[in-house]
Amino acid sequence: MESSEGRAEGSGRAPRVLVVGGGIAGLGAAQRLCRHPAFPQLRVLEATARAGGRIRSERCFGGVVELGAHWIHGPSQGNPVFQLAAKYQLLREKDLSEENQLTETGGHVGLPSVSYGSSGVSVSRELVVEMASLFYGLIDQTREFLHMADAPVPSVGEYLKKEIRQRAASWPEDEETRKLKLAVLNSFFNVECCVSGTHSMDLVALVPFGEYTVLPGLDCTFPGGYQGLTNHIMASLPEDVIVFNKPVKTVHWNGSFKEASSLGETFPVLVECEDGACFPAHHVIVTVPLGFLKEHLDTFFEPPLPTEKAEAIRKMGFGTNNKIFLEFEEPFWEPDCQYIQVVWEDTSPLEDVTSELRHIWFKKLIGFLVLPSFDRSVHVLCGFIAGLESEFMESLSDEDVLLSLTQVLRRVTGNAQLPAPRSVLRSRWHSAPYTRGSYSYVAVGSTGDDIDQLAQPLPTDGAEAQLQILFAGEATHRTFYSTTHGALLSGWREADRLIALRDPQAQLPGPWL
Ligand SMILES: Cc1cc2nc3c(=O)[nH]c(=O)nc-3n(C[C@H](O)[C@H](O)[C@H](O)COP(=O)(O)OP(=O)(O)OC[C@H]3O[C@@H](n4cnc5c(N)ncnc54)[C@H](O)[C@@H]3O)c2cc1C
Repeated sequence: MESSEGRAEGSGRAPRVLVVGGGIAGLGAAQRLCRHPAFPQLRVLEATARAGGRIRSERCFGGVVELGAHWIHGPSQGNPVFQLAAKYQLLREKDLSEENQLTETGGHVGLPSVSYGSSGVSVSRELVVEMASLFYGLIDQTREFLHMADAPVPSVGEYLKKEIRQRAASWPEDEETRKLKLAVLNSFFNVECCVSGTHSMDLVALVPFGEYTVLPGLDCTFPGGYQGLTNHIMASLPEDVIVFNKPVKTVHWNGSFKEASSLGETFPVLVECEDGACFPAHHVIVTVPLGFLKEHLDTFFEPPLPTEKAEAIRKMGFGTNNKIFLEFEEPFWEPDCQYIQVVWEDTSPLEDVTSELRHIWFKKLIGFLVLPSFDRSVHVLCGFIAGLESEFMESLSDEDVLLSLTQVLRRVTGNAQLPAPRSVLRSRWHSAPYTRGSYSYVAVGSTGDDIDQLAQPLPTDGAEAQLQILFAGEATHRTFYSTTHGALLSGWREADRLIALRDPQAQLPGPWL
């Protein structure tokens, strides 16, 4: 195998470090290492033609839309993404205000502005508010099971359903209203599937669910696009650090690799790319998404990962959440409308769905956020859809998606003449070969210990060369998994781990957990 040369000529015996993946975790790690004099030989190998990974802003509809990360969750002092975005002046004045930073949302999605029922009649606000308070009250209660040895049921979904079944038994209303209440609750289950990035809340483990930590602050967006953040980090790196279109095929470790241009030097790791290029290194920080790791577990590491780590990767959850943007000539919603909920009146969280996906996939859509107008002639809705229905949606053509959602909107608004959207744009995170889904969750059968297991560097045995493979990325952060700030912190954590190894006197700002 032929190896590519290191960046810094004549850097002597400085450690050679490779970062696999140019998302926010990889970029964050690279930025930190580049600022330290001990790491002049650093490269980021990115599989695709762009940096940012699941932070992906696209110019469209005369403005910018987010195909991946949308909000800074909990924008306040403890959130490094907020801090960095503020430093780079990427946020609005009101989002920087103390008042915003102190707002506690509990991590719950806000109430819908309007709730359309599938019969074409809006659901009363009173009923929606009552069901939202029941649903989110129960979600908050799940925290009681954290660290409990014995949970009443394995999953968040089963817990919610058990409690709802009990309460529904004593609802005083007529049959029709009781059915409508369950249908509204079903819509909140769909929202929670998007938040957790899962097909069903029955897959999300109850006991560790409360370990996910919500920071204070009213979620905010980037007016110029989330990718402005990763672009800024990238711009701070020396020009040749990132190598694009370099998908890594296999990380060979625990070896003794040589290269022609470094006479006498041996490296414990060799990173082999899909195009045959090989990069010897002392340390590799792997930041690829959990979905990619799951799919390539058998071939990505040579020798294979220790059993406990491979088992943790298999057990952890990684699901799909996608966005569908619809552009309209004219808005059919009120000017102050922010979130349109869609309620399928024939659904209930207490009943399983049996129809084929092609007939019912769109019922998993939670409804639409109204995007702030870029200008007066552009009106855009953003739908969210999770799970297998979302993955099925990825297999359809744009025309099919546009047609199905036009029919949905005509039905729920009761307006058969509602003009079709002008255009559609959607994400397809499950089909993306270097992502294979959206983000991680703690699945039934796994715990936060599996996250820590994944984050453990290799080899674990102190006899070999130390810190050959380090692991970062959102799925490696025990309390902030699934977020950009969890990903960034994990990148910093692994960079600091290396700095501490190579420069034990260094003053490090961590811990990052
Ligand atoms: C639809 C959606 C909405 C979201 N909304 C939010 C939100 O509102 N707020 C929030 O905080 N978070 C949100 N997230 C999650 C957030 O985007 C991620 O947690 C975060 O961006 C992950 O960063 P990362 O660096 O860990 O991984 P990634 O960004 O996925 O980076 C990994 C990189 O590795 C590269 N790669 C993969 N395989 C290889 C290989 N073999 N060789 C080389 N490179 C490889 C990939 O191309 C990618 O660039 C959302 C995600 C999605 C998909």
